[in-house]
Amino acid sequence: MATFSSFNFKGLKALVRVDFNVPLNEAFEVTDDTRMTAALPTIRKILADGGSVILMSHLGRPKDGPSEKYSLKHLLPHLSALLGKNVPVLFAGDCIGEQAHLTASMLRGGEVLLLENLRFYKEEESGDPGFAENLSWLADAYVNDAFGTAHRAHASTAVIADFFPADRRMFGLLMEAEVASAEKVLHQSEKPFVAIIGGAKVSDKILIIENLLERATDIIIGGGMAYTFIKARGGKIGNSLCEDDRLQTALDIIEKAQQKGVNIHLPSDSVIADKFDAAAATDIVSSDAVPDGWMGLDIGPEASKAFAEVIKRSKTILWNGPMGVFEMEKFQSGTKAIAEAVAESTSSGAFSLVGGGDSVAAVNRFGFNDQVSYVSTGGGALLEYFEGKELPGIAAITSHT
Ligand code: AMP
Repeated sequence: MATFSSFNFKGLKALVRVDFNVPLNEAFEVTDDTRMTAALPTIRKILADGGSVILMSHLGRPKDGPSEKYSLKHLLPHLSALLGKNVPVLFAGDCIGEQAHLTASMLRGGEVLLLENLRFYKEEESGDPGFAENLSWLADAYVNDAFGTAHRAHASTAVIADFFPADRRMFGLLMEAEVASAEKVLHQSEKPFVAIIGGAKVSDKILIIENLLERATDIIIGGGMAYTFIKARGGKIGNSLCEDDRLQTALDIIEKAQQKGVNIHLPSDSVIADKFDAAAATDIVSSDAVPDGWMGLDIGPEASKAFAEVIKRSKTILWNGPMGVFEMEKFQSGTKAIAEAVAESTSSGAFSLVGGGDSVAAVNRFGFNDQVSYVSTGGGALLEYFEGKELPGIAAITSHT
């Protein structure tokens, strides 16, 4: 495995797998370019060396081959604007085949070529070696900078690495940073290590909680999933979210945590509502005494305070999932309080990693994104990493000699 920062791309073409799966509006304009800006440092380093960059990505889930809706050509104006007028950005209407190869072969140092959507070929998702080899012919080196798809064994994210010699395949800067921060939390955590797990469903988070029972000092459970635990312990949860088929799982987790000396923290109080609505009537009650017809939609002030204390005495923090329905103003206090505590603990020296969809949206919304150590770009990939699974996109680069 080569190291990106010390690799000199002068005179070379780099095939860079990026995650440009960005949202577009009806006029096909990019409405959130976070994933594009995240790849810029990698692109700029290759160009600065005097190399050329061939970008490949998927966009959406096209079902039957090429379609206008999922064409990466829509990203071209935005990409050109991000890279500035001194960087020529070309587009190939296919990712393999004559046009792609011809355009790639004429590419000069300092130029960028964006390939058409990889998923216009079903061979991308099936991990077809012939398709991967065809892509590999476009360039001299392979750079994987798509952490968001690292959990997929697709042609461009994993299989392709085999077609480059070990000293010509590497992580890009984004992927390096993602892997380093996830490693730091999972394998090199300074104790106490608190994992804050929230969101809607217990079933989505069971594997991650079980893996964290081996490593964490404290596990804070908030959000809708907390009520399955509270009911399992005999609490009255009214109409709160509950997965009745997971009650035993919840009890098993509590028991395993006791055996391993891991502290599980559930919210002692809740903000309850008479309906799932931004204008609902609200009250604050003990989380195990929610009246019939009412539902817990946020952790209460007492729980926020208790959770914040745990967070502030921790040296390593992993946060996945909101503490309540933070999209509605009446139910955002808990998530906000947790964001504040994570930021405060980080400023006193803790390492904090926020990842997985909605918690990232929450820190961004409340303006704490630059007050935590790292905000991951990989939702599903990060979760699978913390479930203890080997990610094909990482293994394809690291497990070769
Ligand atoms: P997840 O994708 O599993 O992380 O869940 C995130 C979603 O869970 C967000 O849209 C929240 O609004 C929702 N959520 C969090 N807490 C609750 C709750 N107490 N009741 C219902 N939904 C919740």
